[in-house]
Amino acid sequence: MSNVVIEAKNLSKKYKKKYALTDCNISIPQGRVVGLVGPNGAGKSTLMQIALGLIPTYMGEINVLGSIPAQDASQLAKIGFVGQDAPLYSQFDVRDSLNFGKWLNPSWDESLISDRVERLGITLRQKVGSLSGGERAQLALALAVAKNPELLILDEPTASLDPLARMSFLQFLMEDAASHSRTVLISSHLVSDLERVCDYIIILVASKVQLALPVDEVLATHKRLICKKRPASSLPTGVEVIEEKHSTSQSIFIVRSEDKIWDPEVIVEPLDLEDVVLAYMGSAESNKKNPIVKEVL
Ligand code: ADP
Repeated sequence: MSNVVIEAKNLSKKYKKKYALTDCNISIPQGRVVGLVGPNGAGKSTLMQIALGLIPTYMGEINVLGSIPAQDASQLAKIGFVGQDAPLYSQFDVRDSLNFGKWLNPSWDESLISDRVERLGITLRQKVGSLSGGERAQLALALAVAKNPELLILDEPTASLDPLARMSFLQFLMEDAASHSRTVLISSHLVSDLERVCDYIIILVASKVQLALPVDEVLATHKRLICKKRPASSLPTGVEVIEEKHSTSQSIFIVRSEDKIWDPEVIVEPLDLEDVVLAYMGSAESNKKNPIVKEVL
């Protein structure tokens, strides 16, 4: 069995009266590229910041690379982080930023960062503060990767990037993840971005984990069922309805089922990751307990 890099048990975080995270249970295996997806305010940053040790008070348990978050400097040395605003020293030029990273990190990968900066077309004498938002985000990712961390945590890293820069950023991330046994936790509300790079997905909505599974398992167990109008209760046992829509004559269900669905009256269609994520988001947002039911006339 592979090692677990982040393990949370009943992890909760409350701000005044509102929960930012509620009874979160996750177990992230080593070497995965994990997409953390959910709408704004779902609790993604809170989960990441707890894992980084930036939020020290919480309820429940969390273990990162074998110890509590930010237990000591040696644990932090194994973690790379890029926050939403790609924080860098704007007064530094690019060369200073690279030298600073090298000075701080014993496992610095000099050739990786030089190659990446050259490929980005960023000049070493340019002030970081004069780079575009996209260039800053790309540089911040390259610096985090050059640290050669076991765990890379990226909080909405593509938010400020145009589509072309986003592609280049994700391509670099994919190449890096494929050539190192790094675990990457990347949050985004853009499922299309995550679909390209992730092999594991965590869906977080309204402070609760809705699903945490390898992507291939998600796609194998989630289906769209189309049939003559019928209630969800008439579906075989073991079929969990995530979302249902009914017109006057037809019913469409998004379901999760471990077993194949054999019913000549039902058309079973595969789903892509975006379909599944949207179904869970819709379901969790509209009703915390029951599946969403829509009447389509
Ligand atoms: P996401 O990253 O998914 O957008 P966050 O983790 O930033 O979500 O926020 C989750 C919830 O916690 C939101 O309702 C947000 O308003 C609240 N929250 C986050 N940080 C604080 C804080 N420092 N004080 C009070 N509420 C907060």
